[in-house]
Amino acid sequence: MKHNFNAGPSVLPKEVFEEASQAVLNFRDTGLSILEIGHRTPLFQSVMDETISLTNELMHLDSDHFVLFLHGGATTQFFQVPMNLLDENETAAYLDCGVWGTKAIKEARVFGEVTIVASSKDKNYSYIPKGYRIAADAKFFHYTSNNTIEGTEMFEIPITNLPLVADMSSDILSREMDFNRFALIYAGAQKNIGAAGANLVVVRRDILGKVNRRLPGMMDYRQHIEAGSMLNTPPVFSIYVCLLTLRWLKKQGGVPGIEKLNKAKADLLYKTLDSREGFEPTVAREDRSRMNVVFRIPEARLEKKFIDACEEQGMVGVKGHRSVGGFRISLYNAVAMESVKAISSLINDL
Ligand SMILES: *Cc1c(COP(=O)(O)O)cnc(C)c1O
Repeated sequence: MKHNFNAGPSVLPKEVFEEASQAVLNFRDTGLSILEIGHRTPLFQSVMDETISLTNELMHLDSDHFVLFLHGGATTQFFQVPMNLLDENETAAYLDCGVWGTKAIKEARVFGEVTIVASSKDKNYSYIPKGYRIAADAKFFHYTSNNTIEGTEMFEIPITNLPLVADMSSDILSREMDFNRFALIYAGAQKNIGAAGANLVVVRRDILGKVNRRLPGMMDYRQHIEAGSMLNTPPVFSIYVCLLTLRWLKKQGGVPGIEKLNKAKADLLYKTLDSREGFEPTVAREDRSRMNVVFRIPEARLEKKFIDACEEQGMVGVKGHRSVGGFRISLYNAVAMESVKAISSLINDL
């Protein structure tokens, strides 16, 4: 048996893998694969409708917010967001807390001005800046709610009157949040809510249509809203896997239910690391991510023992991101408590 701690794409619930496989062979007893039916058939339309309505339900969204499932991953949102919201003579405020945020900033600068309100680059992004001021005249404020690579997470929603935009790729639906406070949320599906290829975007309608530039249809959120996320062929299979994952999430007690479990998982692992000599979590204690647990093992012999034991016991995906080194254990929604207990015992027994 494998224990999968991959950072993304990541483990999904076993029942999701099973149902998804079944749908590839024979979708809802039609004698056809989900991969060979038209996306505008009532059959697929019902998949899209349920995926969107479940997302609305789990996030408790109000009627001003629209749920979209788009292509291109979070990386496309790095530029689609400023393309839709920021004119060339305008400024957007960004928080710089890690590799993904830095990429978002770079792309925003293609379309307008960016002011960085705070950065934790001075300490290798090992903490979340606090006490900064957000310029009141910026067009919107953007931050990354969980820094997947560095292992920090922002548990408080920043206080600002500006439209809030967040990259929630790696902690979407892992904890309760007032999602209605955001003007725009985006998240690649492959970490917490499904398979790579689909990208969740939640957007408040009133922030759209205010830039002067012309937009290609596929880049225009308004056209996607009008078309119900079917402006062109959507990533049908990825969306179906999202639907199965969201149904599973609902059965776990929805977001409050999974948050409780996620807290317990992260508490156990950090407690294990803190008490085991030679293992060093790298980020500020109060900013520790519940999704990505990042640590180092400075002593080479112990490090090798850990790597060997992981290999022997089927622990997959514990290596840190190539840009930071060390180790990273990801604890997304579908990682079972059983797996966290297993790797904690492994660490204790080394
Ligand atoms: C994984 C990740 C991305 C990149 O997602 P893609 O779907 O590969 O474009 C962006 N932001 C965050 C926070 C991530 O964790």
